[in-house]
Amino acid sequence: MKTYDIVVVGSGIYGITAALELHARGYQVAVIDPGPIPHPLAASTDISKAIRAEYGADEDYTIMMEEARLKWLTWNEEFQETLYTECGTTMLTRGPMLPGSYEHDSYDVCKRRGHPLERLNADEIRRRFPAWNADLYTDGYFSQRAGWAASGRVVEVLSHKAQRSGIDLYPGQTAAELLSDGDRVVGVRTREGETFQANTVLVAMGQWSWLLVPELKKVMQSNGMPVVHLKPVDPKLFAPPLFVNWAADVARTGFYGFPLHPKEGVVKIGYHGAGQRDMNPEKDDRVVNDADIRRVRAFVAETFPALVDAPIVYTRRCLYCDTFDEHFWIDRHPHRPGLVVAAGGSGHGFKFGPIFGDLIANAVEGKADWRLHKFRWRSPEESVGIKEASRFHEA
Ligand SMILES: Cc1cc2nc3c(=O)[nH]c(=O)nc-3n(C[C@H](O)[C@H](O)[C@H](O)COP(=O)(O)OP(=O)(O)OC[C@H]3O[C@@H](n4cnc5c(N)ncnc54)[C@H](O)[C@@H]3O)c2cc1C
Repeated sequence: MKTYDIVVVGSGIYGITAALELHARGYQVAVIDPGPIPHPLAASTDISKAIRAEYGADEDYTIMMEEARLKWLTWNEEFQETLYTECGTTMLTRGPMLPGSYEHDSYDVCKRRGHPLERLNADEIRRRFPAWNADLYTDGYFSQRAGWAASGRVVEVLSHKAQRSGIDLYPGQTAAELLSDGDRVVGVRTREGETFQANTVLVAMGQWSWLLVPELKKVMQSNGMPVVHLKPVDPKLFAPPLFVNWAADVARTGFYGFPLHPKEGVVKIGYHGAGQRDMNPEKDDRVVNDADIRRVRAFVAETFPALVDAPIVYTRRCLYCDTFDEHFWIDRHPHRPGLVVAAGGSGHGFKFGPIFGDLIANAVEGKADWRLHKFRWRSPEESVGIKEASRFHEA
């Protein structure tokens, strides 16, 4: 049996950042994960994740992203590596950017907060970003303070830092059950037969969280989103500054993506919609099907004419941990002392990685933090308001 102040279950971006911050606050911390870290099926493990402050009218996230962005730049310095590439993002719409729309509200909030934004019309879109079909995408803006993070690599360097700092990492340990003393959670038993005792168990298992804490099934679901990599025939046309991070009227199409990846030489396209609902992360096959590919191809044909002949070189179905209102879930369990949950990334969590440690550690310690209000333990009746603004909510 091993004993710690805190056992973190899961080493994605939530778990590893929390472990680092809790250790820095003086706790003895262990992290368990089936491994290897970064885990190939984890949501955090990917070549890129979009980083941007655009959240429609929901200014809370924009404020949090302003802090997180500065820390992304600090991480680049600290790790002497470009973990975050600030190439900017184009937020474009099919037709005029209308008040009340995701792009319009994001523009208003970010502009008011002093972000350097450049409004674009069809002529400018055609001239500056020639891969776009500017007959269809006629309005929008460019934001400089955005880009992408090499997310799998981020988890990797943070886990190396955790090891160097004296945090005990246990890849190869899969939590099987929580150990209790009455209502109080006092540890975890693993599938591999190890027992970890702790004052606090922090469940940060993303899409797998409800398997260990079944009551979470009422408030979160694992939904699978297709991801596609295309190899452009003319790579220069898809590289910055001609092509940067992008959202293609995303709240109405679901599609967003990235410029040419500097190492992989691919354009990654993601889908932020309903996806394949209610999957079991342990049992269900994660395949991108023909209907997904047809939808991507139709989108590409009308959006990026020069990508029409690009071969698809990789596909992946990646599971969101979606809460019912698409806001994160970071709180102490209301009825089980000793248990804290940090999950519910809902397809937009990675960008907040640099501030998650602080947020989650505050939740563990029960410290007042205005940011946590949105992510508290809640029921659908007391939902925290509008859903995540960039999501395509299919009828
Ligand atoms: C397709 C896709 C695209 C996305 N795009 C973006 C984006 O562009 N920008 C953005 O900000 N966010 C994006 N997200 C969301 C972001 O990736 C997630 O919010 C974030 O990575 C979730 O991190 P996590 O630590 O909660 O979960 P994960 O990264 O999934 O980590 C969970 C960890 O738990 C471990 N685990 C599982 N079972 C057990 C067990 N029994 N015992 C111990 N450990 C266990 C796993 O091995 C894993 O390491 C995207 C997500 C997906 C799926």
